[in-house]
Amino acid sequence: MSDDYKSLPAEIEKPDRTLPKSDKVMGIDLGTTFSCVAVVQDDYPKVIPSRKGQHTIPSVIAVDDKGRLLIGEEARKQLLINPINTVYGAKRFIGRHFYSEEVKAISRYFSYQVVPIGDMAVGAEVGGRVFSLPQVSAMILNELRKNACEYLKENISQAVVSVPAYYTENQRGAVREAGEIAGIDIIRIINEPTAAALAYGLNRNLDKKILVYDLGGGTFDASVMELFEDVFKVLATGGDTFLGGVDFDERIVEFILSEYERSENSILQCDSVITQRLKDAAEKAKIDLSTKNITTIDLPYITIQGGKFKDFRCDLNREQIEDLVMDLIDRTIEVCVEVIDAASLQPEDIESVILVGGQTRMPLVSSKVSSFFGKAPTKGVHPDEVVACGAALMGHSLCTEQSVRLLDVLPMSIGGRQPDGSFKVLFPANSSLPAEKEIGVATTTDGQEAIEVFVYQGEAPRASENEFLGAFVITGFPKAKAGQTKLLVSLLLSQESILDVTAKSLSTGMPMHVQMVARAPKTADEVNLQPVEPSSQQPSVQDKGDSVLGSQAHKDQQQGQTKRHFSGLRSFIRRIS
Ligand code: AMP
Repeated sequence: MSDDYKSLPAEIEKPDRTLPKSDKVMGIDLGTTFSCVAVVQDDYPKVIPSRKGQHTIPSVIAVDDKGRLLIGEEARKQLLINPINTVYGAKRFIGRHFYSEEVKAISRYFSYQVVPIGDMAVGAEVGGRVFSLPQVSAMILNELRKNACEYLKENISQAVVSVPAYYTENQRGAVREAGEIAGIDIIRIINEPTAAALAYGLNRNLDKKILVYDLGGGTFDASVMELFEDVFKVLATGGDTFLGGVDFDERIVEFILSEYERSENSILQCDSVITQRLKDAAEKAKIDLSTKNITTIDLPYITIQGGKFKDFRCDLNREQIEDLVMDLIDRTIEVCVEVIDAASLQPEDIESVILVGGQTRMPLVSSKVSSFFGKAPTKGVHPDEVVACGAALMGHSLCTEQSVRLLDVLPMSIGGRQPDGSFKVLFPANSSLPAEKEIGVATTTDGQEAIEVFVYQGEAPRASENEFLGAFVITGFPKAKAGQTKLLVSLLLSQESILDVTAKSLSTGMPMHVQMVARAPKTADEVNLQPVEPSSQQPSVQDKGDSVLGSQAHKDQQQGQTKRHFSGLRSFIRRIS
């Protein structure tokens, strides 16, 4: 990616550098719709208000018709009148590959232009300017940091940033990149449910199993956790990255359109402004119905008929909205069933349920959760602030060396591509972190100088249907006949699920050179990967009972292939040994 995408746009106001340096750590919840920053003061997490006194800022940036860059509340204000130049929901795109099915599916939610940057990265085009997704998030992070600096009257630059438990390694890497762009030192990425559990349970000396149910604007996560003494252990986690408040809004938009058609005997023609107005009206109605039984959806001047502006209004009641979204909430319960099962528990083993995310304010959500678990969700946890507070507590514990132990699991399997294109799982989903694995690899052609392994994340049986994370190339062995060079590759997934790769010769123990390469296999057929069966000459591989992934990479092939860029790779394979 070009350097243009690696810094904040020049006109962005940065925090005041003349302020005294702070030793505090921000806890940042970089949300789909809103973001929040907290710090620990006098041992308690405190949410830092924006200049306007708000506890959260909209995760929105925009370019107005004069070409000015707007961030947060100012940007959100222009969403209704200028949606094509307003970027929101960046959290759903960040760290994804432009040509992925997910990006195709997510793009339809948004009015702004989603464009490729380089070969793979996603960019947002607004006001004739293209921003990378890490840049968009960096602008939000910078705004939060500025608020924190002004509030504390200190220059604070360290942060613990939360991400959905279900984020892939690429997505986590892209969030780190956003931190770098914003000049923020992200000392830890923490999973949102873990942060919520910290805010709920830290210093309370609890000994219980809980489920964190997090339904936000774009995604749903459920995590079963065990809390004891100062240990916060994730037993299992799962979720749906395509299930959140926007899906609820979309159901209401469909309702409005069908009501319009029924009463007006015509179809409402929608451009991007009308579509945005419908979404906005739908969200307002949804929020209204969390406290009222009936609401009126009012859309003045929504269209022009016979040369005249035409208004439209219709009522929506609680029963109707519940019918419209029932199956979405049922899907969240299905995920809870799977996650509880993955933790080898029963619903009755869950002693507390913590609701996180704005969408959990809908009464039907808490009543469905109550009836499934046979108990009401825990009160007293603020769904919009709990994650930032938990992240701040984590930051505080890291810099004061307060003893908190987070034991996390891998949200999605990580594995390698086999020669037939199938996906060989190396670290299954829900593996406890850190985790270690050893695999054997061998050369497959005479005179081969490098062995290459392609790494993916996901649960699909074919590697190419999963998220491509990166490739590592192993060199440093002498040329020999095919199959004679046998290596033992050690993969270590850290607590934060960052992969370290080392390799050594099986016969001599000599360490090899391992290098991350920024490119994917072009197609399944273009890369000749050969498996190597563990043989009697590979005792350590056999001892571990591991299967073997082998691959080859010739120098000429490497040079001939397209360079690909993807943000997460750098943090994914960090060590070059
Ligand atoms: P979050 O990502 O946690 O900020 O959640 C944002 C989502 O929560 C959006 O889809 C909002 O429409 C939704 N939301 C916020 N407040 C309410 C409410 N009172 N009732 C229902 N949904 C809400």
